[in-house]
This record gives sequence, structure tokens and C-alpha cells, in this order.
Amino acid sequence: MVSRVIPVDPFDLVIFGATGDLARRKILPGLYRRFWAGQMPEGSRIIGAARTEQDADAWRASIRAAIEEFVAKSKHEAEVIDRFLACLDYVAIDVRGDGGWETLRDMMRQEVTQAFYFSVGPGLFGDLAERLHRYKIACETCRIVVEKPFGRDLDSAKALNATLAAHFDEQQIYRIDHYLGKETVQNLMAVRFANVLFEPLWNSQFIDHVQITVAEEVGVGGRGGYYDKSGAMRDMVQNHLMQLLCLTAMEPPSRFEPDAVRDEKLKVIRALDPLETHDIVRGQYRAGAEPSYLDDVEDPDSRTESFIALKVHVANWRWNGTPFYLRTGKRMKARTSEIVVQFKEPPHSIFEEDTGQRANMLSIRLQPDEGMDLRVTIKEPGPGGMRLVDVPLDMSFADALGPEAADVPDAYERLIMDVIRGNQTLFMRGDEVEAAWAWTDPVVAGWVDRGDRPMPYEPGSAGPEDALILLHRDGRRWREIG
Ligand code: NAD
Repeated sequence: MVSRVIPVDPFDLVIFGATGDLARRKILPGLYRRFWAGQMPEGSRIIGAARTEQDADAWRASIRAAIEEFVAKSKHEAEVIDRFLACLDYVAIDVRGDGGWETLRDMMRQEVTQAFYFSVGPGLFGDLAERLHRYKIACETCRIVVEKPFGRDLDSAKALNATLAAHFDEQQIYRIDHYLGKETVQNLMAVRFANVLFEPLWNSQFIDHVQITVAEEVGVGGRGGYYDKSGAMRDMVQNHLMQLLCLTAMEPPSRFEPDAVRDEKLKVIRALDPLETHDIVRGQYRAGAEPSYLDDVEDPDSRTESFIALKVHVANWRWNGTPFYLRTGKRMKARTSEIVVQFKEPPHSIFEEDTGQRANMLSIRLQPDEGMDLRVTIKEPGPGGMRLVDVPLDMSFADALGPEAADVPDAYERLIMDVIRGNQTLFMRGDEVEAAWAWTDPVVAGWVDRGDRPMPYEPGSAGPEDALILLHRDGRRWREIG
């Protein structure tokens, strides 16, 4: 099968924070993979900018090393790597200083698409935006890409939005949530809106509940300082889990266009009931001989949660009575991200030997292996009578679409190409981010005011016991992690 790729115009992409972890691990390796696949248009350039005083060759050498470390060996072709590195340039700039900007301005071409990736801390966004204008580097049609965290509460998110709005229109701002760049997340929209099969059933009449899990095996490790000021609610729920919830719960947009999709997501966030205390379980990995959360952060009395489970109600006609259970945590049993749509059992069973639970389930896996799986009930083969069995209708991209399709692009590379194409559908709009903080803020403020301590959980487990009880008390259970 020949894949169809929407063409991209040549571009100048400037990456601020070009020597940082994100640039080395994700952005440049992602761009290299697109180049390797022949999807970076001829004449495009990537300009690194960071404080480090070095020349372009030194930066190219570090990116060569990053490609060798973070790109699959099957794509290491010396000649292709050399051609890719030839598209790279570098300029030393301290975002808060005044050196280097004129050099950058002279490098930029006016006739190509311009994009600026703000891969630096949000504290630098204001200076960066202001200097891009002061030095007349940013053209009217340029795009900027900003990373999470987009604020730490509603006030700071509003301030960040205002800072960016002072220099750029909303149509120029691409707020990345890399979960939206996952192939299966977009497939969730295709499954829902390009088939007649699911949408009539996609409501509280047929769906018992939805589970959204993002479990990580690693602890906070070297990021303890940043993480401890944030916690699972701010670091994961407000953005990634909220986006997954929105795509699962939203009404069909009239078109697959940026604002049509984002309007529907915003309506979901605004429809969320405020969280009740008894619908929240916070945890911290602490038990056992392993290093605990408190060893990974500076504050020995930290009350920041490394795990959270929530029961969320989307208060509208479609979802009345169908809870969404969300959970995310560090140092869990396995690295898994998935959305599980648990359908209701048939209202009446006609089969005598039908003893087990017979409810369909659609699971959308984001990691480790992207894919979808629908469980259906069939007759067990053989002469043993009408015995029923649950089987997966597993959808493998490789089986259905050929091996090429199994080579799923990384979320970052897809999103960067969308920036160049000028397609904002998979990026968060400012009002969405603010609405998500408006829902999150009172909950966080509540437990900070009360000084609530998270419950301890065993590293390598599925979280605290109370997270299991959150579902047990409703007669439900979490799907196994892993
Ligand atoms: P990092 O600390 O590894 O790198 C920061 C980069 O910014 C370096 O290139 C540094 O030279 C540059 N920098 C810092 N101060 C500067 C200044 N005054 N002028 C010019 N350049 C300056 O950080 P990172 O992990 O690469 O993260 C970058 C941004 O992306 C952060 O906002 C982070 O929250 C966000 N982010 C990172 C990840 C990740 O996996 N690393 C994931 C999601 C979001």
C-alpha cells in the first residue's frame, strides 16, 4: 500500500532550547525520521538556538549522536544522516539577552513557512515572544509551538495566554499535547465518526463506564524538583487525561476542522461536574525497600501525589449515568496508556450456559503498542454445546494495511508536520487549557488547604487500595495494568 501524505511546503524551523533534553530525545530524532521517510521538503532548514556558545558543526555532531541513540537502527543510513545534518544550522542566543538575534534574523527566509519551537521553560516565553518581534524576526504568518506545562493553575495559564496573545494571534499558537499526536488517539475519532457502528451506541444507554489509564513504570527520578511542585493532577490529568476524556466524550463535530473539533472538546470540559472528595484517591509510592517518592524529592514531608484516581461525571444528556474513571501514576506495575470503553451487558441472556460476564469492550491502546481491540462474544468452537467465549477482534495496522503502516510515526513528528501544514486540530486552544485549569484548581486548592496526605502505595503496584475501592463500590473493577 502506498501511503498518502499531505505535502508540506519548505520551512525554516527554529528550535529554542536546541541543546535540551526534549530537542535531543524527541524533536530532532522525529524530524530525522520524517526526513528519512522523504517527507521533509527539499530546501527546509532547522535552526537550533540555545545559550550554549558553539558553532553549527558542534550542534550537528550532538544531533548525530542523538539520532544514533534515539532512532531505530534500521533508519541509520550514513548518507541520509549527512544530508539531514546539512539542513541544520545553529545560533547562540540567550533568550533574555540581546546577542544573536540579528544573526538569526539574517538567517530567516521570508518566502518559506516559518515556525518557532519554544522548547524552553514557560518563564522564558514572554522574553522570547517579545524579542522575536523587537528584532523583526517573526513574520505575520509564522507559527509558534509551546510545550507543557501550560501554567500551573488558571491564573498562570491566563497570564501565559495573555503574554503570547500580546505578540501572536491564536491561529499562530500551537500548544502541544503529544498524546493528541498518537495514531490511536486519532483513530478513536475515525472509529467514532467514520463508522455507523459505534456512534449510535456511544452513550449512557449502552456504555456502562469508561476507564482512562496512563501508568508509568518509572518514578519521578531526576525530575523530582519540578514534579514535586506539580503532582499527577497538574502534570497529567489537567492536560493528557483531560484531552483523552474530551475525545472520547465529545459530540461529533460538524467537520474535522480545528475549531469545530476544539469547540466540542471545550463543551466536554465545561460539562464536567465539580469533583467530590470521595471521588478522588491520591497516592504516593512509599512502601517497601525501594526508593520512595520522598527519596526522589527534596521535601521529606512532601504531600504531592505521584498517583491519582478520579471518578468523573460529564453532566450532559449523552453521558448521564456513565462515569469516566481516570487514573495515572508513577512507579506502577507497567507502562500502559489506554482508554477502555466498557459496554453494558445484553439486557437478557437466552443462553443457558452463559454464566460469565458478556459485555463488549473496546480498548484503545496508546502505549506500549498502539492498537485497538474490540472484545466480542462468540460460540466456543466444538461440539460442547452452546458455550460462549469472549474473543478479541484485534486490529493490527500491520495485518490490515501492510507492514509500512505498522511503522507508526512518533507523536512529535506528526505534530511538528501539522505545525508546518498549519493544521491546529490536534493542538489545544487557549480557552480549552483555561477551562481545564478552572476545573482542576478548586480540587488542588482543597487538598492543599487541608494539608491532605496522599495514601502510600507499593512501588510496582496498581496504586493504593482505595483506588480499587473507588470502582468496587460501584460494582466495577479496573482493567489489569500491563
Ligand atoms: P532542558 O532543561 O533539558 O533544556 C532547556 C533548553 O533551554 C536548553 O537548550 C537550554 O540551553 C535552553 N535555555 C535555557 N535557558 C535559556 C535562555 N535563557 N536562553 C536560551 N536558551 C535557554 O529542558 P527540556 O527537558 O528540553 O524541556 C524544554 C521544555 O519542554 C520545558 O518547558 C519542559 O517543561 C518541556 N517539556 C519537556 C519534556 C521532556 O521530555 N524533556 C516533555 C514535555 C515538555
